[in-house]
Amino acid sequence: MPLTDDILGTNADGTKNEDYCIYCFKDGNFTSNFTMDEMVQFCAQFVDEYNKTTKQHLSREEYKEVLRQYYPNLKRWKIRNLLCILWAMLCIIFASCSQPFEPVNAATKNTIASDDASDFVVITEVVPDAILEIRYYSTFNFIGTRVDGYLEPTALLTRCAADSLRVVSDELKAQGYRLKIYDAYRPQMAVDHFLRWGSDLNDTLMRTYFYPELVKDSLFEKGYIARRSGHSRGSTVDLTLFDMSTGKELDMGGTFDWFGPESHPDFGGNPVTGEFTGKCNSPIGRTISAEQFENRMILRRAMLRHGFKPYDEEWWHFTLTNEPYPDTYFTFPVKKI
Ligand SMILES: [Zn+2]
Repeated sequence: MPLTDDILGTNADGTKNEDYCIYCFKDGNFTSNFTMDEMVQFCAQFVDEYNKTTKQHLSREEYKEVLRQYYPNLKRWKIRNLLCILWAMLCIIFASCSQPFEPVNAATKNTIASDDASDFVVITEVVPDAILEIRYYSTFNFIGTRVDGYLEPTALLTRCAADSLRVVSDELKAQGYRLKIYDAYRPQMAVDHFLRWGSDLNDTLMRTYFYPELVKDSLFEKGYIARRSGHSRGSTVDLTLFDMSTGKELDMGGTFDWFGPESHPDFGGNPVTGEFTGKCNSPIGRTISAEQFENRMILRRAMLRHGFKPYDEEWWHFTLTNEPYPDTYFTFPVKKI
């Protein structure tokens, strides 16, 4: 464990305290008082970072179970406050990971807020064939109203993400497809709007369309809503394909922002090999056809070929692998620049 004596707590007489760390026990007093369950609830929000670092695929509930089993064993540290919680989380990751520990999440590395749009471009100026359907500017989204920070129905990306998307677009156009963009750069104020909406359990206006089988209070629990989004770093895009021969969206066997396993790239097959298996773990009995699965793969393969990485939860979501601002969360609104 990466814990050293220099963070030991201190007793009233100034001596080191072997039971508690300096963040929770100072000069003979506890600095604050968290229950174990509060710690578990707090740390559960970092399940994505835990999964990334340990290369696991735990659900939030499974991660909570890991935390519940782990905390009582941290006798020496008897965690009591926020910093200790973070320490404990890092210890868990460190202990579970066979690779050198790399801090990857917002809680453990410095992140920057910026309103500097100078390295951003309007997607359609770089990718003129792209079709825009900016759902968070419209009212047809999971909230049912225009989302804060979307001042115009446009889409922005960092220049290098847009340049890569142009290559994807050109390749797919030769196959008869155009890119249809649902969302790209997303300002932090939009994410804050999602959080506010998520906290209002009575607001279920769009449940029928986006989360019919979920109870709204499980949206945070299941990780569908988080306090930060990779979209705010400016190199992530949500998109689908438009079939020029039919004049319609390609049938992906599911819709953008559907909250459920039906949206996972491994729904019905192996996205790494592209093999269709038909195995569907839909709680409401949905399935996907071989053709629909392959349609998702056409988009995925093109995006991965040109520098984007996929996301395990959503077939439509891709991030530039070498994103230029991995630690910066931008705040300027979405409008033409
Ligand atoms: Zn997305």
